[in-house]
Amino acid sequence: MITAESKPIDEIIEYIRPYRRIILAGCNECVTVCSAGGRKEVGILSSALQMAFMKSGRNLEVKEITLERQCDPEYVEELAPIMDQAEAVVSMACGCGVQEVARRFKHTPVFPAVNTKFMGASERQGVWAERCQGCGECVLAVTGGICPIARCSKRLLNGPCGGSTNGKCEINPETDCAWQLIWDRLKALGLEDRYEEIMEAKDWRTSRDGGPRRIIKEDLA
Ligand code: SF4
Ligand code: SF4
Repeated sequence: MITAESKPIDEIIEYIRPYRRIILAGCNECVTVCSAGGRKEVGILSSALQMAFMKSGRNLEVKEITLERQCDPEYVEELAPIMDQAEAVVSMACGCGVQEVARRFKHTPVFPAVNTKFMGASERQGVWAERCQGCGECVLAVTGGICPIARCSKRLLNGPCGGSTNGKCEINPETDCAWQLIWDRLKALGLEDRYEEIMEAKDWRTSRDGGPRRIIKEDLA
């Protein structure tokens, strides 16, 4: 899932200082799971913003709403009937949701209330670890299901650097060396020969440029 954490409230107050009426929009998906931007957080932030404005002698009207998914135009459309009640939108969704709202409502300023962090998996209650960087051409089949792009600090594709020590990464000794993990996993699976495979230079054009990675499913279009 996509993980996020709340922005400092002072930063959000600065965004909306010129306005008196805002929509505060949460999202029911990933940001709800990581307690950054779901219905509960919408209520908490709404009260905090109104209180902060009140302290400086101003009124802030907040229309609270939580959409099923802010990255989906079908649900973003639910904002249309209330858009004329607000001068700005504060979105508590991940960066995808914020951009989708901004794309739909071209004449209304849209501000993010969370910092989107990474695509991760839950390690334990309340703790997520980065597991994928959306490179567009997955190599997990070769690396025993452990991603060298998200989990190796240098994104190395053909074994560890010289700094790997006692199974830990030289960049942060508290972090496991991804290539140690990959080796251990391949060995446990009896697939050591995969370790010998030389991966060709990666085609980074499939990664993060907003273009070729667009996924189009004709049957859903
Ligand atoms: S190889 Fe690419 S797609 Fe696969 S997990 Fe790693 S970053 Fe994600
Ligand atoms: S020590 Fe391991 S994880 Fe860290 S940068 Fe080197 S190869 Fe990558």
